[in-house]
Amino acid sequence: MSEIKPIRREDLKPGEFLCSYCTARCCRYFALPIETPTTWTDFDHMRWYMIHGKTAVFVEDDVWFLVVFADCVHLDGHMCGMYENRPNICRTYNTDDCEYGDEGVYDKFFETAEQVWEYAEAVLPPRERNEANALGLPVLHGV
Ligand code: SF4
Ligand code: SF4
Repeated sequence: MSEIKPIRREDLKPGEFLCSYCTARCCRYFALPIETPTTWTDFDHMRWYMIHGKTAVFVEDDVWFLVVFADCVHLDGHMCGMYENRPNICRTYNTDDCEYGDEGVYDKFFETAEQVWEYAEAVLPPRERNEANALGLPVLHGV
């Protein structure tokens, strides 16, 4: 696979395509909005997502998203191997506000189940030991 030298968006010449300078970042994950977690059970569900690995949760403008990092099976190097038949969501995505050159900065970003749990402990009222036991939730800090 040939090495790709990144370019700044503003340095793109007429007729050039930004995707030619990208490692297909947008084809290597998908993200779905999820309900805003408000209970220990909600956060326990998030913890379950995270322990599968290759997942993350981020929050942008108060909307929570689950991210699954997985290359599209139709990636051919850094190019789309099914361009003519690609899904509509790929067709409607464009380079105007894509993540090219993005630093990946979000309002909130959780990479591990432990981070999710620490956040839950910070924002939710302390749970009773009975409640935690009933849900089968861990009592990490002896609440
Ligand atoms: S749309 Fe953006 S992120 Fe996706 S391949 Fe093109 S430049 Fe890269
Ligand atoms: S179908 Fe093509 S454009 Fe869509 S995610 Fe897969 S490789 Fe990327």
